[in-house]
Amino acid sequence: MYCVECSAQMISAVPPGDRLIRSICPSCAHVEYAGPKVLVSCILFRDDRILWIKRATAPYQGLWGSPSGFVEAGETVEEAASRELQEETLLVVPPEDFSIYAITSVIPVNEIYVSLIAALPSMDFGLTPEISDIRLALETEMLASEYAYPAGVQLWIKKTYEHIRAPNPFGQQAKLRHLR
Ligand SMILES: [Zn+2]
Repeated sequence: MYCVECSAQMISAVPPGDRLIRSICPSCAHVEYAGPKVLVSCILFRDDRILWIKRATAPYQGLWGSPSGFVEAGETVEEAASRELQEETLLVVPPEDFSIYAITSVIPVNEIYVSLIAALPSMDFGLTPEISDIRLALETEMLASEYAYPAGVQLWIKKTYEHIRAPNPFGQQAKLRHLR
């Protein structure tokens, strides 16, 4: 690994005043911090239903999950959600129509998941190379074994369904869009 600042070969060492081994540049002292990567996942809801995609690619090929992906440099999380949703399902939801729903640290894979929620604005979704099926499903229509997620996340999905079934779940904006 080479320094992004001066292209010198990086070394592993504890920087002065730090407590962990980092990748540091012996030439210019640049430090590379191995913090978590950030992913967004998109929850689209309408009439007690949530939009699920069947993954066409590994990992979890053939299982159901939310449209999701890594946030790119220079993007806000809302912009990343809008882009990933369109790439995977063809649906167009502007970044400003998403609200932050939850933030979860996933320590084993060194990632942070930012879940964003929006009312489904239309039924104009379709298949793409990344997905093999797509459905707008009630909680009772989804089997636990079909999710691309472990048990802990499935409890969270159950709570999400409870939230969207509540009256006016996500404020006036979501409600207005819901009624279109
Ligand atoms: Zn350097």
